[in-house]
Amino acid sequence: MAGAGRAAVRRALAAAADLVLPLRCAGCGSGRGPWCPACRDGLRVTGPGVGCVPVVDPDDGSVLEVHAAARFEGSLRRLVSAWKDEDRADATGVLVALLAGALTTALGSEPALRLALVRGEGVLVVPVPTSPAARRRRGGDPVATLARCAVVAVRGPPAGRRPGLVVVPALRHRRRVRDQSRLSRADRRANLRGALGVRARAAPTVRGATVVVVDDVVTTGATLGEASRALRRAGAAHVVGVTVARTPRPGGSRLPTGR
Ligand SMILES: [Zn+2]
Repeated sequence: MAGAGRAAVRRALAAAADLVLPLRCAGCGSGRGPWCPACRDGLRVTGPGVGCVPVVDPDDGSVLEVHAAARFEGSLRRLVSAWKDEDRADATGVLVALLAGALTTALGSEPALRLALVRGEGVLVVPVPTSPAARRRRGGDPVATLARCAVVAVRGPPAGRRPGLVVVPALRHRRRVRDQSRLSRADRRANLRGALGVRARAAPTVRGATVVVVDDVVTTGATLGEASRALRRAGAAHVVGVTVARTPRPGGSRLPTGR
């Protein structure tokens, strides 16, 4: 609770500072924040197909298609870092807009998702859970917030509601995991093996469902791969990944987000 309290105090102080200081851009630090036109224009947005990264499970060869909205580089990388580590909650709107774009692309291009929506079976949107330690530090589960807001953005106004898109925080950590940031690809996989599971009360919902699993950034794919494995173990019929950003060469570099 002390960590959550400190986070709340930091947020209050940051909000108070914003009343007297011009809001800094979280991407470049200019006074035209939270996300200035130059940073927005410099974003390498990935189009349909281009932003799709296959994550292969080495055990059974199954492939998780992951749709990302943009490249994780430059100002977007700094913005994500500020959002995660500097309590820049004002950056959330930028990330929600990007995630909503990737979600829309996935819903329009993945046959399993289209079929589930057409049949009226619905699609579950499951955020990758934030670890208990990070949740205490950040005073909540930021990826779940992104997922909820992106689904609202994709659904649109009530008249144009897209039926059957439901956010279900179905996953939980089953044990502690090490910080991923300094680990190699193989070590990340070993670190996460069996670390995620489906909550007992969500199991009936997941069984037979078509699922979109959501994270902020896909780096090596180890986290989304483990999330997908947990959902499939619980009987999910089909799983697709959606993220805000992807590394320029997924799996090729170690990045501070540890994802
Ligand atoms: Zn900027």
